[in-house]
Amino acid sequence: MAQVGMAAESNYDYVLTSDYAALIAEEFGRNAIISDEYSFDLHPPPPHPDPTTLPSRPPVVTIMGHVDHGKTTLLDTLRSTSVAKKEAGGITQHIGAFSVPVQATSSSGIRSITFLDTPGHAAFSAIRARGANVTDIIVLVVAADDGIMPQTREVIDLIKRDQGNTSVVIAINKIDKPGVDVDAVQKKLLAEGLQLEVFGGDIPSVEVSGLTGQGLPTLIETISAVAEVRDIRAERGGVLYGHVLESKVQKGLGPVATVLVMRGCLEMGAHLISGTHHAKVRIMKDSSDNIIKTAYPGMAVTVSGWKSLPSSGDNVLQGSESEIKKAIANRERAQGLKALMTDAEAINAARNQERRQKENTTVATAAPPVVEGPKELRLIVKADVSGSAEAVVGALQGIGNKDAQTKIVSSGVGDVSESDITMAKAIDATIIAFSVSVPRSIETLAAQNQVPICSSNIIYRLMDNVRARVIALLPVIV
Ligand code: GDP
Repeated sequence: MAQVGMAAESNYDYVLTSDYAALIAEEFGRNAIISDEYSFDLHPPPPHPDPTTLPSRPPVVTIMGHVDHGKTTLLDTLRSTSVAKKEAGGITQHIGAFSVPVQATSSSGIRSITFLDTPGHAAFSAIRARGANVTDIIVLVVAADDGIMPQTREVIDLIKRDQGNTSVVIAINKIDKPGVDVDAVQKKLLAEGLQLEVFGGDIPSVEVSGLTGQGLPTLIETISAVAEVRDIRAERGGVLYGHVLESKVQKGLGPVATVLVMRGCLEMGAHLISGTHHAKVRIMKDSSDNIIKTAYPGMAVTVSGWKSLPSSGDNVLQGSESEIKKAIANRERAQGLKALMTDAEAINAARNQERRQKENTTVATAAPPVVEGPKELRLIVKADVSGSAEAVVGALQGIGNKDAQTKIVSSGVGDVSESDITMAKAIDATIIAFSVSVPRSIETLAAQNQVPICSSNIIYRLMDNVRARVIALLPVIV
C-alpha cells in the first residue's frame, strides 16, 4: 500500500501502511504490535506436496476460437449428450459449465469432463485476469472452410504464452461441408507454430462437425486421453478452493453463484467467502440441476445462500462464520483505504493541475512550463458481459508507473457505439473492446475521428497493447 499525499503539501492527510507505521513507532523508540484483528484474511491453500497420491478429478475444458467457427454449436451438441439432457428430459439450465460423461469403455480412467460454456470466455478471462487458471485443456475450434483467422491467432498466442500449463486439442470443425481441405488447415496450424500430432508433435487434432455430431465421440475420447496424460488430481479433503463462474439473483433463491470446485469438498451448510461476500450454503445443485449435498473437485455447482452477489472470477474459500466475518471486515476496510487513496491521489493531481494553470497564467511565457504528474492513457472499456468488463478494468488499471499510467474513464457492456466514439474523441481516449463487435460503420467513424480502438477477446492481448501505448507516453530520455 502506498503512502498518500505529498511532502511539499502538508495540508493532506496521510494513509500509512502497517509496515510504515511500525517504522515510525520504532523511530520513537516504541515497539509496534500489529493486531491480527486488522490483518486477518483467508487465503488459498498451498499446492499439495505430492499430488500423485490424490484422487483424480474431471478435467476442466474451455472451447475457444474465431467467431462463427462453431463454438456455440459444438457446446450445444456436447451439452445435449450431457447427463442433464438424459435425466432432466432435455431441460438444461445455463450455469456457466456442464459435465459430459465419458464412456465406460474409454481406455482412460476419466469418468467425466467439465466444459466451461460462458459466452465470450468471460469466466475464463476473468479468472485468468486475476492471476489464476482453472482450465486444464483448451479446445481450439477452427472451421475447416475458413482456416486460421485473427481470433484463432489470438488463441494460438495465448497457448504459446502459457508454455504448456494448459494442454491443447484442435477441433477442425464443419467437416460436413463439401470440399473442405482438412490437410491444408493442419499445415497452416503447423506453420503458426502448433506442433500437431499428425506431423510428429504432441497436439492432437480431431475432425468434427458440431452441427451433425460427427467426430464428437472421438473429441471426448481425445480430451480424456490428454487429461489422462496430464494426470489431473486434487485433494478432496482439506481447505476448499474454487472460483465463481457466474452469479445472478434468482427469484425465490436470492443471489446464486456457480462455483467451480478446484480443491477440497463443498458441503451443504458450509460458510464461504468470495471477495467481500459471504454465503452459508443453502441449496446446491450440479450442472444437471440435481440437488446435491457435496461437490467434489472438477465439479461446477450452483450455490444459493449468498448474502450478496459475488463477482465472476473471484475465488471462493471456506472458513468458520467468525473467520469469514473478520476477513470480510478487513477486506472492506482495505477497499475503503484504497478508494481513499485513489481519491487523495485524484485531489493531489487536480490541485497540482490547478496550481500549474495559475503559474502558467502569471509567469512570463519565456520558459516552458514544467510538466508535473503522470501522463494518462484514458480508456473507455466495452465488454460482452459485466463480469468481463470488471475483469478487463482490473487487468488494465494497474498498468503504468509514476510517469505514465492508465486511467479508466468508463466501462460498460455492449458493442462499441457512436456515443463511445464521441466521448473518446472529446476526452482523447482509447476504446478497449473485449469480446464485442465493432461494426464497420463505427470503425470508419473512429478512423475519421482518430479514435484508436483496441479490440480482442484475449485479455493478455489487450494488456500488451495498452502497455505499449503507455510506454509510448513516457518521456524520451536522452
Ligand atoms: P461461434 O461464433 O463460434 O459460437 O459459432 P456458431 O456456433 O454460432 O456457428 C456459426 C455458424 O456456423 C452458424 O450458422 C452455425 O449453424 C454454423 N455451424 C457451426 N458448426 C457447424 C458445422 O459443424 N457444420 C456446418 N455446416 N455449419 C456449422
